[in-house]
Parts: sequence; structure tokens; C-alpha cells
Amino acid sequence: MKAEKTLDWPSTPSLASNFPKLPKVLAALRAEVGDDIRGCPSDDLVTTLRTTGVLRLPIPAAYGGLAANWRDANEMITALARADASVGIIVFLHYAAISRIIGYGSEEQRERLLTAVARDGRVFASSWSEPGADAAKQKISTRAIRRPGGGWELDGAKTFTTGAGVADLYLVLAQTGEEEAAQASYGRSNQDIFVVDSTLPGFVVEEVLDLSGMRRSATGLIRLSGYMAEASDVLTHSGATPDVIGYPHTLGLTLGSVALGIAEEAHDIAVDMGRRRMLLDNPLYRHHIFEVGSQLAAIRGVVRSATEERGDRTGPALTAKVFGSETAEAICRTAQGLSGSAAFLRLHALNRLAQDARALTLMGPPNYLCRELVATRIAEG
Ligand SMILES: Cc1cc2nc3c(=O)[nH]c(=O)nc-3n(C[C@H](O)[C@H](O)[C@H](O)COP(=O)(O)OP(=O)(O)OC[C@H]3O[C@@H](n4cnc5c(N)ncnc54)[C@H](O)[C@@H]3O)c2cc1C
Repeated sequence: MKAEKTLDWPSTPSLASNFPKLPKVLAALRAEVGDDIRGCPSDDLVTTLRTTGVLRLPIPAAYGGLAANWRDANEMITALARADASVGIIVFLHYAAISRIIGYGSEEQRERLLTAVARDGRVFASSWSEPGADAAKQKISTRAIRRPGGGWELDGAKTFTTGAGVADLYLVLAQTGEEEAAQASYGRSNQDIFVVDSTLPGFVVEEVLDLSGMRRSATGLIRLSGYMAEASDVLTHSGATPDVIGYPHTLGLTLGSVALGIAEEAHDIAVDMGRRRMLLDNPLYRHHIFEVGSQLAAIRGVVRSATEERGDRTGPALTAKVFGSETAEAICRTAQGLSGSAAFLRLHALNRLAQDARALTLMGPPNYLCRELVATRIAEG
């Protein structure tokens, strides 16, 4: 059941004017964006995110947050993603977890967890995926067994958790019932979501994956072995889980915002290169630049429209994610073509951006599943 208290997010005039520390954050991101050996951002960078207010942006003021609306949250993610898309997805997943706590947490959970972010700079991650589980999370093997006294014991392994080792708190999807439960479009109704604290016994980060895109996103494997969760750590149960997983999309929070940051950066690299090589006088180059600019404008439009509708924004948010990620990929490809052999150097920024855009098509949910989810809603009227 959704929490009763409704919270509204006041509209702010512009993110940049309300977030004076943004230039400092972006400078820190740009300073290390090419450093992907460890597969994660540096501790200093994470400290910058913790201390500048980025993490508490969409938290209501009552819990110590900056009370930004979800349009501004998307804008912040775009600004970060333009400098480093890997950090863009870490913050996207953090904001998504926050939205679930705002929307579905009990008042005690909101007070405890939102305050932990706003006051102590705690970072959230989400762990749904598992080796062998499909993208719609119909088959998961992480188990939660009820203990005498009301707590739960969690056992299992999760893969592709973005922010593994960076995050302090994890929303973990676990199977709580053996019986065949009703199958929802994303997740099952006999799965619960638990808030797992990485400092407690039974939680380990096993590995950060060596990805070919989003290489600094700390996307990796976590394992729970005899992890003891309190009854108050259950975020949702009995039937609400699929709705909770999809809740950020109903608000208009979208990975299209990350795609927009990637596309803006690739577009600007292509224009800058044309200017430096005097190619902007060449009709062929100029027309390609026009096409890339119009594609960029289209991504900007779909991302903005994700937070414009009243009511459930799932359709526009998933559409922005699919269109944004695939169009960002196309922009990167055009920019790579325009840059010729210069962009064929492995460490050229366009290669990183192209792979980051591709990663977006595969995650949160993957594009084929987004298409399915939106088409099902259309079919059902
Ligand atoms: C960079 C990155 C970050 C991620 N971060 C997280 C995270 O933080 N937390 C988390 O829980 N997960 C995360 N994931 C996992 C991601 O969200 C996917 O759910 C997961 O990878 C499983 O999806 P899949 O498409 O590989 O699986 P499957 O569903 O097994 O699909 C495999 C392939 O089969 C095909 N296919 C299957 N069904 C259909 C269909 N109905 N229509 C068409 N084709 C179909 C598609 O080609 C698909 O790619 C991340 C993934 C990536 C790449």
C-alpha cells in the first residue's frame, strides 16, 4: 500500500540558479572521467557528491532535502552525465531509490532513511538483477526467510548492481513465498524489497564488473549470506513490489536524462572538431552537424515531456529512455564518422560516450522490455 501522506515538490525556477555548487561538482567529474581502471569513481569524488547536496536534491524539505521536483532531478542527472555518464547512472539509481522511499516507505522509514541521505550523505543502489534471472525479474533465487520475532534472513547473489561498493544502502529484491504468485509486468507479487545496510554482517561486494561502457559506474556483484534484516527494513510486501519497482517512471524520472547528457557532449565534440579543422564551411560536414543538432533537440524534447504530463508518466518516461538512448547512440556514431581516424584512438571521448549510450539501451529496464511495457499499456487502454 502506498504511504498516505502526499508530498508535492514545488517548482523551482532553474536548477543552475538553485544549485550554486554544480560547477564544483562538474569540475571534479571532468578531472577524472578518463580514469576507469578501478571501475568506480574515486573516494574524493563520492565525498564531493555526499557533501555538495547532489544526493539530497529531490528529498522533501521536511527531511532535510532541497525539495527539487523530478524535472530538476532529470536536469541534474543530465548535467552530471554530460561530464561523466557513469556517475549519471549512479545518481539516477540513487534518486530512483529515494522516490520509492518517499512514495512507499512508512513514516518511520522516510524519517530514518531520507534523513540518512540528507544529513549523512548516504548513497542508495538497487539490486534486482541476478545471474540467470530475466530482465523482467520473474525468476530470482535470492530468498528471504522469516525468522521468529519478525525479522528476515536474506541469502543470495545479485549481479549488475550499479554503485556496488559506492552505495551505503541497497534496495534488494528477494523471494518471500514459494507459491506461484500472480505475474506482473515487472517483478512478481511474492517478492519483497528490503533495505540492506552495507556495514552489517552478511553483506559483501564480490566484484566490480569490467564493463565495456559505463566503466566508472561501480556496476558489480553483491552477495548476502545470512544477512539479518529487521521487520522495519521491509520497504514493500505482498503485491506492491512490481508497482514500487516502476514507481520512479510514474514520476517522470528517466534514464533519457543520462542519454541527453551523452548526446549533448557528443554533439559539442563534433561541432568543436569541425570548428578547429575549419570543416564548418564544408556543406557535407555542416549538414551532418544540422542532423545531429536536430536529433539532440528531439531528445531534449522527449526528456522534458516525461515530467510534463499530469498523473502517471510511465509512458513518456520509458519512451524518453528508449528514444534518448538509441538516438544518443546514433549521434555518437555520426560524430565518430565526422571525426575520422582521430576518434579511432581507444581512449577518445567519443568511444566512451558511444559505449555509455549502448549501456543505457541494456539497462533499467532494457529497451526491448520498455517497448513491451509501453505497448502493453497502450493495448490495455
Ligand atoms: C550498465 C548496466 C547497469 C545496470 N545496473 C543495474 C542495477 O543497478 N540494478 C539492477 O538490478 N540491474 C542492473 N542492470 C541489469 C539490467 O537492468 C537488466 O535487467 C539485466 O541486464 C538483464 O537483462 P537482459 O536483457 O540481459 O536479460 P534477459 O531478459 O534474459 O534478455 C536477454 C536477451 O533476450 C532478448 N529478449 C528477452 N526477452 C525479450 C522480449 N520480450 N522481446 C525481445 N527480446 C527479448 C533480448 O535480446 C535480451 O537482450 C544493469 C545493466 C547494465 C548493462
